[in-house]
Amino acid sequence: MEKTSQLTNQLEHTLGDAASATPDRIRRAPKVLLHDHLDGGLRPETIIELAQAVGYDNLPETDPKRLAAWFRDAADAPAKEGGAGLVRYLETFTHTCAVMQTRDALYRVAAECAEDLAADGVVYAEIRYAPEQHLEAGLTLEEVVEAVNEGFREGERRALAAGHRIRVGALLTAMRHAARSQEIAELANRYRDLGVVGFDIAGAEAGFPPTRHLDAFEYLKRENNHFTIHAGEAFGLPSIWQAIQWCGADRLGHGVRLIDDIHVSQDGSVKLGRLASYVRDKRIPLEMCPTSNLQTGAADSYHEHPIGLLRRLHFRVTVNTDNRLMSGTTLSQEFGYLVDAFGYTLDDLLWFTVNAMKSAFIPFDERLAMINDVIKPGYAELKAEWLFRPATGQPGVASGSAAERD
Ligand SMILES: [Zn+2]
Repeated sequence: MEKTSQLTNQLEHTLGDAASATPDRIRRAPKVLLHDHLDGGLRPETIIELAQAVGYDNLPETDPKRLAAWFRDAADAPAKEGGAGLVRYLETFTHTCAVMQTRDALYRVAAECAEDLAADGVVYAEIRYAPEQHLEAGLTLEEVVEAVNEGFREGERRALAAGHRIRVGALLTAMRHAARSQEIAELANRYRDLGVVGFDIAGAEAGFPPTRHLDAFEYLKRENNHFTIHAGEAFGLPSIWQAIQWCGADRLGHGVRLIDDIHVSQDGSVKLGRLASYVRDKRIPLEMCPTSNLQTGAADSYHEHPIGLLRRLHFRVTVNTDNRLMSGTTLSQEFGYLVDAFGYTLDDLLWFTVNAMKSAFIPFDERLAMINDVIKPGYAELKAEWLFRPATGQPGVASGSAAERD
């Protein structure tokens, strides 16, 4: 009896090791990214070089390390300083967009984006950007989309040459405060199956409800196209409700405020409101971005981030980066923060990753193939590594001494 329980303990310990999510394993695990902004993920060196090339001399720093720190600090400002901090946060995108106005710059930024994600173990990504923000030097909307698409293809090729496989799709974003959403929706439809996989709407939530852009959403639905809406980050439940029930969003960007519709009693029992229930019942994907949410003040700490509860309640939660430059992060780091906060294992990471792949905007058969042929085998391989660990001479299931004992 005692021997059996000893063996069980040993087995649990070993299986625990097999599934433990160390930083190295997180990086090597196949990952899927659904919410990442092209103008929020540039390499600091690239910003400096592009600024020199186009004669843009408003950068706050010209040393890559100091520039990276400036971006991170400016993005921290909203949580630290409130409304005044938001101005500083928005300034970050003024600089990145300023250097992304030519075909060559867009091509380079898109190629490096794909390369960087692939090096971080991302196997599938949907990267979003607003074409209307890249017209200052005379490019047309179509030229912007084509430059970014070609950049992504080049990045995929470079990644493959470096031993990483990645597939990148584009989401075209319309700005909430502007009036071009119908035009951008039509653009997304025209480039469908040509590198663009869907549509998004972003920008300040307060004062600019998604219903302002109903024509664009209704058009996309008539065209059987896909879209996601930034909602429920700074603004509460009405924004989420409108995005889903009025606009018909396929996914929610952030959606952290959904937590306001979930009541947790002192005894730990949980009651979902009608909207939260609907989101869970309909398996509506939530594109959560932990570090970004901390920076904008949508959550106070990783430990208190709603993702912990939402994962426990089996919402269709996905983990994302939002703006890698401004948050000084990678998808692996975001997973690392969650592993530290909630004790997640590789099994949890696999769950988040399969959730994300199921929620992607590419066709069902291709999503399924990514899950069965890339993601699941990748995690299985990581978990199997303990079988081939070199013997340490210490007691343990895989060591010679344990094998002799058995
Ligand atoms: Zn975003």
